Amino acid sequence: MSFSAIKGQDKQIAMLKVYIEQSRLEGGYLFCGPQGIGKKMTALSLAKALNCQDAGIDACGKCPSCLKIGKKQHPDVHFLEFDGDEIKIEYIRQLQRDASLRPYEGAKKVFIIDNAHNLTADASNALLKILEEPPKSCLIILVSDKPGLLFRTIVSRCKVMKFSPLARSALKETFQSDYGLDCNRAHYLAYFSEGRLGRALCLKDEDALNEKNKIIDKLALSPAGRGADLAIKEKADMRRALNILAAWFRDAYLLKAGLPETEMINFDRRQELSIYAGSFTFTELDRIMQVLSDSAFYLERNLNIKLLIHNLRAQIWKG
Ligand SMILES: [Zn+2]
Repeated sequence: MSFSAIKGQDKQIAMLKVYIEQSRLEGGYLFCGPQGIGKKMTALSLAKALNCQDAGIDACGKCPSCLKIGKKQHPDVHFLEFDGDEIKIEYIRQLQRDASLRPYEGAKKVFIIDNAHNLTADASNALLKILEEPPKSCLIILVSDKPGLLFRTIVSRCKVMKFSPLARSALKETFQSDYGLDCNRAHYLAYFSEGRLGRALCLKDEDALNEKNKIIDKLALSPAGRGADLAIKEKADMRRALNILAAWFRDAYLLKAGLPETEMINFDRRQELSIYAGSFTFTELDRIMQVLSDSAFYLERNLNIKLLIHNLRAQIWKG
């Protein structure tokens, strides 16, 4: 992975390239923006570019340094990745020890703290001290999709770079040109993922289009009682089904309100959708969307999934 492989973040990457050229990259950076749009990929590509042995502004991706960073085995590039867990002070103390040493073999030490909003208060304070006087030849990149949860003092010590989702039409084109997907599939992935390439790529290899249509057919389009054979057992399945239904009813609502078909997530079923939307009033659609949102709330509080589906169907078919 190098800068050239990252889609839709041209402005941020152009800026980073200027900083590389001017050797201005030191201290703290905060890469923020929604999940799955390339923040971490950019951080990784930056770490490679700064340490690449084939001197250039972008990483070559082939030299021993690039390869080691790609495998997360480079002694000067450190990853603090803990998914949803707290980032405790001992990790920041370790970071401090590592940062105070000169690079072993690279040009610059890089620390990438993913989900930086999970830093505990102690860890935040320890990190703040490092950011106030960052060691030489050391770059600390905080990555977060919830920057509002970070200590303000931390944010104020970082250079903030905001990342945005790709335009959905551009993502659709990328799927057609780079991944060879047909128009309907490319449209669905781009619009359902709201322009988040990472999220769309996760769905790409699954039969996401057929899966979503199955959910719509069984839950939104057939009368109550006939969705029993849907394979929704786990919480994650139900969460996805609720998202699919929310997108379907959102489409119906917006189509009714006069939005063009090309803006529909369910573009592949635009004709059906238009007839479907006509059979509901705005008030009914509002009510159904509220029910979907309530269901998502109860799902997270572990309400029985069968019960949720039963209630959902009853509500959709109320009229
Ligand atoms: Zn290289």
